[in-house]
Amino acid sequence: MPYQCIDCSKRFNTSKGGERHCDALGHQYILAKCYECGREFVNARALEQHLSSTVHGYCTICEKSFGNKWRLEQHNRDTTRH
Ligand SMILES: [Zn+2]
Ligand SMILES: [Zn+2]
Ligand SMILES: [Zn+2]
Repeated sequence: MPYQCIDCSKRFNTSKGGERHCDALGHQYILAKCYECGREFVNARALEQHLSSTVHGYCTICEKSFGNKWRLEQHNRDTTRH
């Protein structure tokens, strides 16, 4: 997986190379970002865990929860009456 350092924008062919670079220069090493809430994670597994344990969409009217904001928006569109 290619990697780009968020501190200096240097690109690497592999995430390992990026990790080494960040280690050596003290730059922040971030591999995965949640597209829902923008939280950053050091690896894809941590992001997966976050996605499965965090509710990003929650309807305050019928108290239904959704995996992401897009689903919640769709719910709000489809459900004109609660
Ligand atoms: Zn860097
Ligand atoms: Zn998130
Ligand atoms: Zn609802």
